[in-house]
Amino acid sequence: MLQEITKLLQLQERDQRIRALQKELKDIPKHEALAKSQLAGDTAAVDAGSLRAKEIEVKIKGVELDIQTRQNTIKRLQDQQFETRKNDEFQAMGIEIKRYESDISKIEDKQLEFMEELEAAKAALKAAQAKLALTQTRVNEELKVLIERAEGVKKRLSGLEAERSELAAPIESQTMDLYTRLFTKKPDAAVVPLEHGICGGCHMKVVSGTIQQLRSEEIVTQCESCGRILYLVE
Ligand SMILES: [Zn+2]
Repeated sequence: MLQEITKLLQLQERDQRIRALQKELKDIPKHEALAKSQLAGDTAAVDAGSLRAKEIEVKIKGVELDIQTRQNTIKRLQDQQFETRKNDEFQAMGIEIKRYESDISKIEDKQLEFMEELEAAKAALKAAQAKLALTQTRVNEELKVLIERAEGVKKRLSGLEAERSELAAPIESQTMDLYTRLFTKKPDAAVVPLEHGICGGCHMKVVSGTIQQLRSEEIVTQCESCGRILYLVE
């Protein structure tokens, strides 16, 4: 095998690892977003629960006010009743007082109903908050792992990049340019084996001239179909 090819294969091994690590690093924000998206449902449930409790509280305030208004009216009627000397007026006021009292009793039933609703809503809110807290803990843990992973990948990358520049230094610039061009373009490899006359990159059969050129071990040989640099495996 040409010495140049041996060097290229060592370089390519580093470049392939670098490429995989770069992809891993690039994917980390996606994993982070996915982890955070787990919070959306639980956060929405807490917001909805909190809104529901507030709505019921407003209703309760409303009925309390209704009761107060009627109690004031009753008080006023009782005062008037106390002052009047006319029997028919006294009785008419008595009827009105009874009507307001019956109103109050109905509103109090409603108030009780709302209180029960509020209790249930508060329990549901508490459960939703607990669920959110659990999810948040899990998501934080996932995010921490992702940050650590990114740091590890960066460290390995800088080590590999140092190795690759050391390996690239002695390679002739024309070969290096060809290799770089191919490696950038091809998703797998720039240097591939030729086995049983088949290119390991594009899996096409090469012409016999190509095989002869490879056997002579004089120049860098490329697959005539895909352009990848070949080395012979026999
Ligand atoms: Zn090929």
